[in-house]
Amino acid sequence: MKIGVPKEIKAREYRVGLTPSGVRELTSRGHEVVVETMAGDGIGLSDEAYEQAGAVILADADSVFQQAEMIVKVKEPQPDECRKLRDGQVLFTYLHLAPDPTQTELLVASGCTAIAYETVTDDHGGLPLLRPMSEVAGRMSIQAGAHALERAQGGNGTLIGGVPGVAPANVCIIGGGVVGYSAARMAVGLGADVNIIDRSLPRLRELDELFQGRMTTLFSTADALEHSIRNADLVIGAVLLPGAAAPKIITRDMLGLMRSRAVIVDVAIDQGGCTETSKATTHDNPTYVVDDVVHYCVANMPGAVARTSTFALTNATLPFVLKLANQGYKQALQTDRHLRNGLNVHRGKITCQAVAEALDYNY
Ligand code: NAD
Repeated sequence: MKIGVPKEIKAREYRVGLTPSGVRELTSRGHEVVVETMAGDGIGLSDEAYEQAGAVILADADSVFQQAEMIVKVKEPQPDECRKLRDGQVLFTYLHLAPDPTQTELLVASGCTAIAYETVTDDHGGLPLLRPMSEVAGRMSIQAGAHALERAQGGNGTLIGGVPGVAPANVCIIGGGVVGYSAARMAVGLGADVNIIDRSLPRLRELDELFQGRMTTLFSTADALEHSIRNADLVIGAVLLPGAAAPKIITRDMLGLMRSRAVIVDVAIDQGGCTETSKATTHDNPTYVVDDVVHYCVANMPGAVARTSTFALTNATLPFVLKLANQGYKQALQTDRHLRNGLNVHRGKITCQAVAEALDYNY
């Protein structure tokens, strides 16, 4: 199969759909890969590195879209990219169609077969192509929070790990899933005093086993929450109700309980945020203050560490890219129900029930 990797065109997006190692896995199995020039330039992946892996470098996105049978990307296609897609072509990338009627219409009109990373599933009921970005955002939440706690950044001036003779920061993590666990790894590693709140007792048991007493697990009740945020220097919002907006767990009134200049990193902001006062911010201007509490609410945290995110994403997507290339998309979708769950649009029809219902399409 001929696979195309265009340069991402969304503002400040430096990630790329395949790494040179991913390209090599494909070319060594007899597939052809075409990569738009400078596609990985922003994260130190040169055209030469792609060429060494067996890719052919093309001068522009038009050539990549024209030549490739399957396009592998990171972000949802922008309108210009949607218009380059054609009948029978496969698109494999994050789509997030439910809140995006324009993109949906353009993909339907293109006749392409669009497989969304975010709806591919695994045997454990998880979303394996979202997981790496949650791991990145979770780990990053502690470094973002540590920075925001610095006095010059508006925080209360607490060092996460403390020093001998001075207590470390108190970190409260709400939601103990992939983001919460990853945040806890970093916070515990830095020596913080950590507690993690979840509404799932089995999950709290798992976390308790994993951390062997190096942090406290708390069942999610109003009392536990109020007690924890009252004492916290840093709160990480990491809850998820699959397919729904994040529950507003921290109300505006509750900010009054918190320490002056404490920090909330609301990772769940991409689902609306779990704090009533959260609104999405950007890497250029990541924080703002409400009622003396610093809010960090960047909706695309992994974009800031685009190099790590690109490698993490390719590690997760590559087995599926290989399957699509080796078997052809029809057989790959027929034989792998998890990949089939990723199918969102096929030849002019919406094939994902949640998207069809959200946007009032026939399913
Ligand atoms: P996950 O499903 O692995 O974990 C969510 C956890 O929240 C679960 O353990 C669940 O039991 C818990 N939970 C749900 N309701 C709760 C409540 N009321 N009280 C306490 N715990 C509750 O999800 P995840 O992959 O960790 O993702 C967490 C959030 O981070 C999601 O909203 C996701 O979209 C978001 N995210 C944001 C970024 C970003 O750049 N901002 C990047 C990746 C993920």
